[in-house]
Amino acid sequence: MKNYINGEWIAFSQEEMDVLNPVDGSLLDSVCRSGLEDVNAAVNAATKAFETWKKTPMQERVQLQKKLAASMRKHSASIGRQLSLELGRPLTACIHEINRSAELLEYYAEEALRMKGYFPLTNVEGEKVLVTREPLGVVVSITPFNYPITLLTFKMGAALVMGCTMVSKPSEDTPLSTLALAACFEEAGYPAGVFNVITGYGREIGDALVSHPKVAKIAFTGGTSTGAHIAGVAARTHKRITLELGGQSPAILCEDADLDTAVPAIVKHGFANTGQFCYRVNRVYVHESLYEQFCKKMKEATEKLTLGAGIEDTCDLGPMVNEKIFANAFQQIEDAQSKGARILTGGKRRTGGIFEKGFFLEPTLIAESSSEMKIMREETFGPVIGLASFTDETAAIQEANASQYGLAAYVFSHNIGRGLRIAEQLQAGSVWVNNIQRSYHSVPFGGMKQSGIGREKGIHGLEAYTELKTIYLNY
Ligand code: NAD
Repeated sequence: MKNYINGEWIAFSQEEMDVLNPVDGSLLDSVCRSGLEDVNAAVNAATKAFETWKKTPMQERVQLQKKLAASMRKHSASIGRQLSLELGRPLTACIHEINRSAELLEYYAEEALRMKGYFPLTNVEGEKVLVTREPLGVVVSITPFNYPITLLTFKMGAALVMGCTMVSKPSEDTPLSTLALAACFEEAGYPAGVFNVITGYGREIGDALVSHPKVAKIAFTGGTSTGAHIAGVAARTHKRITLELGGQSPAILCEDADLDTAVPAIVKHGFANTGQFCYRVNRVYVHESLYEQFCKKMKEATEKLTLGAGIEDTCDLGPMVNEKIFANAFQQIEDAQSKGARILTGGKRRTGGIFEKGFFLEPTLIAESSSEMKIMREETFGPVIGLASFTDETAAIQEANASQYGLAAYVFSHNIGRGLRIAEQLQAGSVWVNNIQRSYHSVPFGGMKQSGIGREKGIHGLEAYTELKTIYLNY
């Protein structure tokens, strides 16, 4: 498949890269391995389109965004299928990702109509001061493999409706769904150049995109070390950045936690998308009085989960997307075992039959995990959860916070005062008390510490694509 630049399917680089099915390594398609010419063509197209797009009335941009959402819904089955094939996740969940992303586009469109400037009452005759907002310009979106459409929509839905234009660079593992999404822009009738997609390796074209003089902002979701590199390159030209990075999210179960709620919530959010999920539950600290019972229930629930090829839609977990992601998770299991932890369930790569060619890792629970083990410190990004017991609540909070990451945290307690008190002390951008639900479109999402900079979604997500301007008017 070719790139989508200036409303055309075109590739300047003659080189291609293969997109493989992670279930069996078979070839799904080949996409453009973009080079500098593709980068320049896409940024130039977005720069030219910005000149008229920024002057397009908000109402028109809102109407187009709603048409885009309608087109995504119409094609959610085919885009979802493409996503399931390239990622390995169950088909129904992939179709849901497309529909939920359409919903986010509609939310951003509605919220954009409520954006306001203001003027302070200076009370000086013949003077007014206007505080307004302007779109930033060309935005480069760089996204990871795990939720390619959701994480692109977090950025694109806000940027475009606020008057920015975009060049999207999807992950090399899962670019096909983003290219399929580009076709919806054609159907919705967007002007050429407002949204462009170029595929390729981040390490090859990343710096050219991030340092491009015509680019105003980099919106990145991905690993913390990639984010640090991007922030360094972007800083040289003082570009605006939003970074959504890695996580190592802790859950605390107090002695009065409701296990019948906590266990299914933790199993669901620890193993969702085969653990390739940024705000998944990585580690659980359980009051000693509940620990054995909790371990037993977690083991029972985890052993009910099934592995398989996501496209058949009969399994809970698909394969991991590539060897690197698998090896990182597997190494954490080995590290924990070598330091005395107990594998409650899982811990092995599934092989034989349909599992032979993919990286299928059994959903794994590691009991008696401790702070010197990687599973309690480093990002896992796989279906492995570390479990530990505690006696002292203050020490448990300290352990939960003893991390470079601060994306999400969870607390379970029947005592709402205690739950809230702990939530206030946890260093994380989002904290769930007594259950874990999907994040809402209308509230900010993002990380503290090395989990990121800035927030996406909600009104804050829209503001992040604008620059404030103060106009002093004398008359
Ligand atoms: P990654 O950092 O390897 O790649 C992400 C994107 O960055 C890809 O498109 C890649 O091509 C690009 N890239 C790589 N090197 C680059 C460079 N030098 N310059 C510019 N771009 C470059 O991440 P991944 O393996 O695709 O995804 C997993 C990571 O993403 C995990 O760390 C996970 O926590 C994180 N993530 C975070 C969130 C969040 O909201 N905080 C959400 C999902 C995933």
